Amino acid sequence: MKEILIGSGLGIIVFLVIIGVNVTPLLFIVLLAGAFYFFMHMQNPVKFDDASSAARKGSQIRFDEIGGQDSAINELKEALQFVLKPEKISRMGIRPLKGVLLVGPPGTGKTLMARAAASFTSSAFLAASGSEFIEMYAGVGARRVRQIFNDARKKAKNQQSESAIIFIDELEVLGARRGSHDSHMEYDQTLNQLLVEMDGINQNDNPRILLIGATNRADMLDPALLRPGRFDRQVQVGLPDKDGREKILQIHARNKPIKDSIILKNVARETFGFSGAHLESLTNEAAILAMRENSEYIGEKHFSEAINKVMLGEKLDRKPSNSERERVSIHESGHALISEIINPGSVASLTIIPRGGALGFMRKSPQDDQYLYTRQELETQIMISLAGAMAEETKYGDRSTGARSDFKQAWDIAKEIVESGISALGIVYSEAIPGETLYEECKSIIANLEQKTLSILQENQDILYSIADALIAAETLNRNQMVELINA
Ligand code: ATP
Repeated sequence: MKEILIGSGLGIIVFLVIIGVNVTPLLFIVLLAGAFYFFMHMQNPVKFDDASSAARKGSQIRFDEIGGQDSAINELKEALQFVLKPEKISRMGIRPLKGVLLVGPPGTGKTLMARAAASFTSSAFLAASGSEFIEMYAGVGARRVRQIFNDARKKAKNQQSESAIIFIDELEVLGARRGSHDSHMEYDQTLNQLLVEMDGINQNDNPRILLIGATNRADMLDPALLRPGRFDRQVQVGLPDKDGREKILQIHARNKPIKDSIILKNVARETFGFSGAHLESLTNEAAILAMRENSEYIGEKHFSEAINKVMLGEKLDRKPSNSERERVSIHESGHALISEIINPGSVASLTIIPRGGALGFMRKSPQDDQYLYTRQELETQIMISLAGAMAEETKYGDRSTGARSDFKQAWDIAKEIVESGISALGIVYSEAIPGETLYEECKSIIANLEQKTLSILQENQDILYSIADALIAAETLNRNQMVELINA
């Protein structure tokens, strides 16, 4: 058809030229129409099945290969009953579930859960990212939304599956509140089309479609998406706790020779705040380090170094001068000594090898995950932050610029004390505290702790210097080496 049209068009133009008609305006119009057609079609054919990074990540995955998300998985499995047992659902007169929203920080396993949901229900699976729907050309996004629903139905039919799961990652890109974007007409049209498609989902459809969305900004989503009948279920996929981290480490260590399984327990304890993706990267890095050393097994030191790498980044080639190294080792020893004196067993390792943006680093070893803090615990954290600069003061009688981020941290914690109503100001409404009052109260908290930290370090000056000397010699000290120096 396309060829016949092009052929006849050319024929007409040649005929017009022969009979002497000026065809320039006509050629101009044809060129414009051609360019428009070309751009529309260049934007159109997204193959959601393979083009999406989410879909490319592998084939089948089971729920038991996802660690630390037991309650999220249970909630999701419950929602999947709508796909697995449609007769039961309709006999009870329950409104079908059309969408499940997975909400949580990056790398916690939302994509894995969507893929596991597809294998659990033997559904066809299509994945796309919110940004794949958005183009600057009007109408393209809406067409892509229609396309993914059609592709899902086709794929389910081809696989002889009774259901299909469409996974849309970064849903906030496509589903942000209407009117919140500059080129809002295109965004709004795309979102409207998604709403239309969701409203069209029916319990008796064959194949049945379930939409799984993932976002870490549920607050940005348009309320129309979240209303009953659309994304009916919200499942929180949070950062894993200590047991969850251990399970995730075990999953990713399955194919790796680990020296002793107790190592993973310790690593889980030291990685508060790590996501599943961080933990996967950590096991991988530890294995690479062990291989570099031609070691047969992955041991504690490989994991310890891998944690530093995941937390701070690659080692830097930059070599600080000797005097800088001395100052950094005193600084880091100060952090570590205060931490161990106030909280024995709280330091995991200490290093003066430059990494990422840091010339040295002390890694804490929390006993347990902690989500609530008393004033005393927060004050301890401030003292540990200030201790680097106070150690420099003890040794050199002055300080360097290396404590800038420590001070920011100390200041943030002091602010938390005030805003939590546990400072001398008593209960406050954080948004109504005058800036000057907040500043003065934080300053007084910090000044008080600054003096306290300095005197503890001065009293333990010899230990401080011996840790610093050992650190310069070895570049990295582990927990046991530090405790030995403190008890010597
Ligand atoms: P994003 O929001 O950035 O898209 P996500 O929450 O979808 O992230 P995934 O893509 O599912 O995260 O996870 C990335 C990788 O991290 C996985 O391929 C897996 O290796 C690892 N991972 C993340 N969470 C877990 C988990 N709970 N259990 C096991 N592995 C995990």
